[in-house]
Amino acid sequence: MLTTIIYRSHLHEHVSLKMLEEMVAAANIKNGQASVTGILLFNGTHFFQLLEGPEERVDAIYQAICADTRHYNLVELLRDYAPLRRFGKTGMELFDLRNYDREAVLQTVFDKGTTRYQLTYGDRALQFFQTFVEDGAKEYYYEIPPADAWEFVVEGTAVALPSAVFDTPSDYRFAFQPIVDPFAREIVAVEALLRTRDGGSAQTWFEQQGGEDIYRADLHSKKVAFAMAAALKIGPQTLSVNLLPMTLIKVANAVEFIVQAIKENGLVPEQVIVEFVESEVISHLAEFTQAVKLLKGAGIRVAIDHFGEGYGGLVLLTQFQPDRIKINRALIADVHKSGSRQAVVQAIIKCCISLEIAISAVGIEKAEEWMWLESAGISQFQGYLFARPDLQGIPPVAWPEKRDERV
Ligand code: C2E
Ligand code: MN
Repeated sequence: MLTTIIYRSHLHEHVSLKMLEEMVAAANIKNGQASVTGILLFNGTHFFQLLEGPEERVDAIYQAICADTRHYNLVELLRDYAPLRRFGKTGMELFDLRNYDREAVLQTVFDKGTTRYQLTYGDRALQFFQTFVEDGAKEYYYEIPPADAWEFVVEGTAVALPSAVFDTPSDYRFAFQPIVDPFAREIVAVEALLRTRDGGSAQTWFEQQGGEDIYRADLHSKKVAFAMAAALKIGPQTLSVNLLPMTLIKVANAVEFIVQAIKENGLVPEQVIVEFVESEVISHLAEFTQAVKLLKGAGIRVAIDHFGEGYGGLVLLTQFQPDRIKINRALIADVHKSGSRQAVVQAIIKCCISLEIAISAVGIEKAEEWMWLESAGISQFQGYLFARPDLQGIPPVAWPEKRDERV
């Protein structure tokens, strides 16, 4: 299948124009053997390359390009299929945009093309060319430093709760994970995550519960989450807990139960955020928003978790606005390398800014993911990069420190 990949990247300063020409000459031979063609645009700082050919060959060459240390901040912009090559003449041609007149340059690039129709019919790949040549998306080129520019330094020690001191229920516990603002060096909240007694995941625990009981069990477990948080001395810290949306709908007086459990443990409703996964919200929206009124009326804040992963997506925000939304790893994994993830995350951020909804990103494992998201405007993060959930305890946070700025 004829596959097209387009990416953009940033040339490393140590690479000279001569090295660049040699690189292209080598690529030409390699690509020619693999029946891969394309064009490489260069504007003095950034590359923009289109690769076309049989899928496996294009993939193999693209992998090698990704690993090449002569450029960095590589972002995949397009991966698509087409009946004919757009640039079928050579293995790889370097086209230095600086040598051409601004008005004529796009046409000159297109003149190198080998198909006529795509130009006429608004082909996505060629639209990307136009945007690059005209510097159209420059404000989204976040130039993030390499991962090793940061060192993550653990500060403090875990606050743990030996099981002997705490009267734990027979079949579950909670793990706690901080949500942090790394630049402000502040823990903005702590999330209680359900675990089986031996530390298994929330999902495992839910699978062990039967039928309708899961909603009651979900609700009742929160009493333990609040008690554990209080025993861990969270003080006035914000505490996030998760609930299935159906728990609010199916269990009578669920909100009263929550409020009571908060107060019994010396906490206040204003410090609590209840997180709901989006997928179930949308199918019972009317009942859900009704139940949410009661939560809000009691002073409790509401977050939509795993935003964008269910069927709701952005339409949900037209019908119901939570206090916060959380985007998870499904959306943000390797966001620094993916044009499509970047576009979707940017759209969500834009909505949240307009609606004054706080936004946080969950499942941050890489420094580059964190840095890209900071550049895009997110400041609250939760993930293994900063702290892993700690069973019956609150883990210390590994704060980022710029290597060359350390004293
Ligand atoms: P969530 O609310 O988005 O919780 C974050 C999940 O991501 C947790 O998984 C956490 O362990 C995991 N995580 C955190 N940082 C990273 C990271 O850097 N990389 C990766 N790969 N994962 C990371 P966990 O505890 O298995 O929970 C999964 C989901 O189960 C939660 O997602 C939440 O939706 C649900 N859940 C957890 N506790 C409860 C609960 O008490 N009630 C209800 N209804 N659902 C719960
Ligand atoms: Mn959550």
